[in-house]
This record gives sequence, structure tokens and C-alpha cells, in this order.
Amino acid sequence: MKRRELLAGLGASAAVLAACGQEQPAAGTASSASPGETFNWKMVTTWPPNFPGTGTSATLLAETITRASGGRIRVQVYAAGELVPPFEVFNAVSAGAAEIGHGVSYYWKAQVEAAQFFGAIPFGMTPPESSAWLHFGGGLELWRELYEPFGVMVFTGGNTGTQMGGWFNREINSPEDLKGLKMRIPGLGGEVLQRAGGTPVMLPGGEIYTAMQTGSVDATEWVGPYNDVGFGLHEVAQYYYYPGWHEPGAILEVSINQEAWDALPEDLQDVVRSACGYVESRMGPEYSARNAQFLQQLRDEGKIEIRRFPDSVIDELRARSREVIDELVARDEKAARIYASYAAFQQQVNEWLDIGERAVVAARG
Ligand code: CA
Repeated sequence: MKRRELLAGLGASAAVLAACGQEQPAAGTASSASPGETFNWKMVTTWPPNFPGTGTSATLLAETITRASGGRIRVQVYAAGELVPPFEVFNAVSAGAAEIGHGVSYYWKAQVEAAQFFGAIPFGMTPPESSAWLHFGGGLELWRELYEPFGVMVFTGGNTGTQMGGWFNREINSPEDLKGLKMRIPGLGGEVLQRAGGTPVMLPGGEIYTAMQTGSVDATEWVGPYNDVGFGLHEVAQYYYYPGWHEPGAILEVSINQEAWDALPEDLQDVVRSACGYVESRMGPEYSARNAQFLQQLRDEGKIEIRRFPDSVIDELRARSREVIDELVARDEKAARIYASYAAFQQQVNEWLDIGERAVVAARG
């Protein structure tokens, strides 16, 4: 992207954010760094290098911060495994080994179990709904409070769009077929599968294709047609199931080491804040456009079968999801507060959706 377009886009996005009252700068939190001081930031990510949508968003964020700051913050991107393993991103940012991270919060559920609510919740909110909760329903404040003890500041990084149920080399005709199913599926969705009798496996994106090809897993979820075709998953599976019950949308997170954040002068904090907003605003439209395009490609090629999970399977997974969430909330006070906020917002927005978006989609046929 040319510098002029980039800055025009950034300016427009910052103006929109300001007009919406979203992510307004907080007064008086920045350091009194000397003018002309430069900052060299390492960005660690959970993605393969420049992986379409997620990895490219991380790169765009790094470039935007570097250019819009006039080079006063120079951000160097490291793909998964280049500096730290993918699931170590949060720890690296918390410890200050990297100043900034780009990933999804459920990858660090071992460190912060309640963080999963900021990644994806089975049968939870769609990308626009969760974005509404984060920016206008108190979600982002709860997220920052959760990460504060770890010395991590967080921004929203976008969303991968509504996901697919995944790729299977077995037919799923009834809840019985979930029993013994070995599937790559992270986060709360994995716990739900386990409760339904399956064996969830947590693998970073870069290892999924080989796991499917060698049969070390029977099934995998990843994202949606855009990213899944990017990995070639259609070459190693027969059935592509929907809906993405486990991950109605994955919220991406931008984590920043608190000391690195506090060291920035106020104008550079504004640059980072606006850059996050700019990148986030592009991601939803990108996924909507590309998922539609790659779904069409899969249909045209006709080599795989696209199927809906039977109602009996969805009912089973919904019931098991309820149990998993209830138990998490019962054992973790922070999780309870976050989920109370999330669930109340979901119910309210759902009522609007009924007579808003869903009604329009139904009406247009
Ligand atoms: Ca996924």
C-alpha cells in the first residue's frame, strides 16, 4: 500500500473512531520521553509468515505503526516460531521479551483461563456482535483488567469472521459419531468436544495440514474458506461441515507490554491506538469478501462435500457447551464477571438481531 493511501486510511479510521467515541486516548498516562526518541519493537505472532488475513494483518499493523509514526516506532514482525513458539506469545509480551504480540487469547488459556472469553465462545456472538460488546458494552475494559496483573495492555486486532465447523474424514450423522473423534480444535470448543466423547488436540496452524494428511487427527477446524484453502485443507479432507458452532468468530488480540506502552509519549500512543483501529476495521470486510470467493471456488471444483451438522449434533454440542461454560464460571470469579457481561450483551443484541439483520436477510430471500 502506498504511504499516502495508508495515511489517508489511517486518518479516516482515526476520525471515525473519534467520532464514535471509541478508544479515546486517556489523558496523562504517557511518559515524558524526549522528542525524537525512537522505539524498536519486536512483534511476535501466532501465525505462519504473512498468512492471509491474520499474518498479513499483523504485518499491516506493524507497517502502519512504523510509517504513521514517521519511523519513531519501528516494528519488526516475527512469525510463529521465529522468536518464540506460537503459544508463547503472551508470555513473551508479559515478560518484555517482545514489546507487542498478535494472536488469539484462547491460545494462552493455560496461563489465563478466563482469557478464552475474549477469543471465541461456543454458540456465542458473531463478529459484529462481539465487536459491539468490546467497544460499547464494556468488554474491552474487562479484558484489560484481566491482563493487568500480567503487565500486558490489550487492543482488539480484528476478527476472522464467522468460522466453519471444520474438515472431517468421517461423516458426522449423529452425536455418536463424535465419540472417539480426534480433532484439532482449541479453546472452549475443544473442551466441549471432549465432553461429547471426542479427543481435542491443540496444534498451531502451521502443523494442521500434516496432521490431517498423516491421519494423526480425524478432523480439524481452522477458520473459514479463505484461510482453510490457503492451507490446502481441501486436499486432505472429504467433508467440510458448518456451522462454526465453536467459534462464531475469533477475536484477534494485540498485546503490548505495559512498560513499553507507558514509555511511549502520548502522540505515539495515539498512533498505535489508531493503527489498531485501522487494521481492525479492514479485517471483517476482507474475510466476508474472501470467504465468499473461496467458498465458490470449493463448490466449483466439486471435490469435497459441504455439509451442515445434523440438528441432533448441534443440540448435543450446545448442551455440552452450557456445561463447560457453567463449570468455568463456577471455578473462576473473573470468568464469572466477564461471562455475565458477555451473556447479558448477547441476549440484548440477539433481540435486536431478530428484527434487524435476520429479518432483512430472511426478507430478501
Ligand atoms: Ca478456528
